Amino acid sequence: MDVLKLYQETGALLEGHFLLRSGRHSPRFLQSVTLLQHPFYAEAVGQALGNLFEELKLDFVIGPAMGGVVLAFVTAKALGVRALFAEKDGQGGMYIREGLSVHPGERFLAVEDVVTTGGSVQKTIQAAQAKGAHCLAVGAIVDRSGGRSEFGVPFRALAQLDFPTYAPASCPLCQRGLPLQEV
Ligand SMILES: [Zn+2]
Repeated sequence: MDVLKLYQETGALLEGHFLLRSGRHSPRFLQSVTLLQHPFYAEAVGQALGNLFEELKLDFVIGPAMGGVVLAFVTAKALGVRALFAEKDGQGGMYIREGLSVHPGERFLAVEDVVTTGGSVQKTIQAAQAKGAHCLAVGAIVDRSGGRSEFGVPFRALAQLDFPTYAPASCPLCQRGLPLQEV
């Protein structure tokens, strides 16, 4: 699957001057919600991501809300298991709301659209572990971490993309006076 082409075709590959969550600046940004709003593309992505983990005996797939909700759903559908999500708890962590059942000993796959620092998927894992479940692996559409994300379990992505990022003080886009867009 040519993931970058999917982002391009759906207008989800943005070009400009972006402030990433890491605090760094980048000329490119992958807006996954723009890609995943199309059920046809979303299901194709879920199927491809599910294929990377089909050997695992899983009980559910979980992703961080909001960006990981659709991805967890389509991946879980491809794998024939439940789809859950974790939400921000307002104190820097994440939690799983009442009504989404997690039983002690269950095994799960955690997913996120684009992993840069891996912070929100890590909090999602902790939320499920707090209910006694075990994380078997982490999946992403795109790994932008440059191999720096370390989850302690296998981490597989459909694509590794290494877009340039800059510290604000040495950003050539800032020097050219391009307006900065928060994403
Ligand atoms: Zn900049």
